[in-house]
Amino acid sequence: MAVIPVALAGRSYDVTIESGALEDFAGYARACLGGFDKSGRAVPFVADRNTHRLYSDTVERSLSKAGFRADWFVVEPGEAAKSWPVLEKLTDWLLDLGVTRSDHVFALGGGVVGDLTGFACAITKRGCGFVQIPTTLLAQVDSSVGGKTAINTRAGKNLIGAFHQPSAVLIDPLVLGTLPDREMRAGYAEVIKYGLLGDAEFFGWLEANGTDVLAREPEALSHAIATSIKAKARIVAEDERETTGVRALLNLGHTFGHALEAETGFSDRLLHGEAVAAGMVLAARYSARRDDLSLSDAERAARAIAHAGLPSEISTLALNASGRELADHMRHDKKMEGDTLPFLLLKNIGEAYLARDVDLADIAAFLDEQLQ
Ligand code: NAD
Ligand code: MG
Repeated sequence: MAVIPVALAGRSYDVTIESGALEDFAGYARACLGGFDKSGRAVPFVADRNTHRLYSDTVERSLSKAGFRADWFVVEPGEAAKSWPVLEKLTDWLLDLGVTRSDHVFALGGGVVGDLTGFACAITKRGCGFVQIPTTLLAQVDSSVGGKTAINTRAGKNLIGAFHQPSAVLIDPLVLGTLPDREMRAGYAEVIKYGLLGDAEFFGWLEANGTDVLAREPEALSHAIATSIKAKARIVAEDERETTGVRALLNLGHTFGHALEAETGFSDRLLHGEAVAAGMVLAARYSARRDDLSLSDAERAARAIAHAGLPSEISTLALNASGRELADHMRHDKKMEGDTLPFLLLKNIGEAYLARDVDLADIAAFLDEQLQ
């Protein structure tokens, strides 16, 4: 078992990683079940239809052995759940259940369930507790830790939200056994990201062991999750609200990736992790074009991404867009500062930095080359 602390003034919490933890859910979550045994109220769980179907029995079995019962709010799988109407239904449900500030609501699912539940808990009674039980690789290595919560609106993704840290994160890597391979690879893109942005040794380890991680080989998988979470915890502890530039490191590949997602309409054509994968190759190659990174290291990054079955060449994505059109999507970025967009680039494998002198016209010319 690995327990990784996320050290935040007044809001510290632990991330527990343990294969099979869900079977003994009530034991692991004991500290967050407090108020429910005294009142006899049901423990509130949010899930999507898939995670409910797959894992609600396991959780309920463990709860009932410990004398608790669960009540479920189940959403349809997919981004559409991160919306005002679903948020309203969820907060009404929590209020009807009589949730108090000292209670915890449990989010059993991927990033969609985690982001929606976290935001609902940020605003219910001005903030009640919640526990993340992430069930996708992306959620286990990224979205469940760090306290960013949000819903989508017609103006864009994640534009309405709050920083609200969970009280605990419980990761059972075994649940990834049922995750579709494509979702597994998409989450793996964020794992590679931690190596590229700050840990050359981990990147080397992934080059050697990535196939085992993707095959859910237990030891390799747990090591990849724990190393990723440690990296994220360290960055979040340094810059909880993304004000100093440290947390921005986590956006490696995301600016290019966001343009690709926007171009494909945020659809199943390109999952977020796939866009980030292609975006990291672009960031590496653009860094090489500026002589920040060696060409051989840029191609090493591209090979690791291609080897994982993730897109490394945007020329194969059938985008039907010019470099200029892709760069135009970046102009709407939340991070745009006047006419410049801070760009995460690489000096080395394992050393990302924020460049503030990047010209979007140059990015457009570079993208035209990459689209050939
Ligand atoms: P998701 O939650 O949509 O889950 C992907 C699919 O996998 C869904 O169909 C789901 O039902 C299914 N699924 C989940 N667990 C499963 C399991 N164990 N077995 C079988 N199927 C399973 O997608 P995601 O990639 O986990 O999360 C994406 C969301 O996360 C986006 O909305 C994104 O904005 C958000 N996000 C948030 C942060 C953050 O810091 N808060 C960071 C990154 C991403
Ligand atoms: Mg991401």
